[in-house]
Amino acid sequence: MNKIKILDHPLLQHKISLMRDKNTGSKEFRELTSEVALLMTYEATRDLPLKQVKIQTPVAIAQTNVITGRKVALIPILRAGLGMVEGAVSLIPAAKVGHIGICRASDRDDSAKSDVDEYYCKLPFDIKERDVIVMDLMLASGNCASAAIAKVKQTGANSIKFISVVACPEGVANLQKNHPDVEIYTGALDEGLNDDMYIVPGFGDGGDRIFGTK
Ligand code: URA
Repeated sequence: MNKIKILDHPLLQHKISLMRDKNTGSKEFRELTSEVALLMTYEATRDLPLKQVKIQTPVAIAQTNVITGRKVALIPILRAGLGMVEGAVSLIPAAKVGHIGICRASDRDDSAKSDVDEYYCKLPFDIKERDVIVMDLMLASGNCASAAIAKVKQTGANSIKFISVVACPEGVANLQKNHPDVEIYTGALDEGLNDDMYIVPGFGDGGDRIFGTK
């Protein structure tokens, strides 16, 4: 079973609390999302391999470390995951960014057979050779995250992590069932989903809060 890591850094926890506040406006929410994504990406890349190199400093030769091996691909799930890209890319400027647009089928067509609809997908051509971080603001039912990760796996990519600012037990269980190999990083494990499939207490509709659409 894949592990879930709940990131308890005080800065991260403080920023998530500000995001939860319904009086936090879009500008601040967007900035906080970016800052939180940076901190979460920092934690999720702790195991990037290093190799020793010699570097001439102004004083002497230093035996020091640089990152080696595979590069990173960041895959935000549209639309709320988009808000996390800037923070993550500021930490890993060489990362390539793919996009997957997935929504609940009920948002588009009540007669749809599957739980989710994919409406957009553009992934880096060399994603298979990269360590992949799939990101969404919230891990709610886990259906969109599961479908996005399945899509990434179809490319042959096999090193995949998932990060979300807030998660709930239903989403974690669903993702663990569908993708037991994918490690989950989150800043909070909330109580659960309400009848409208919002995370409780969560922070409402993440996309609307980032983009100011409500
Ligand atoms: N998506 C959101 O934007 N908010 C939730 O609480 C759950 C899913």
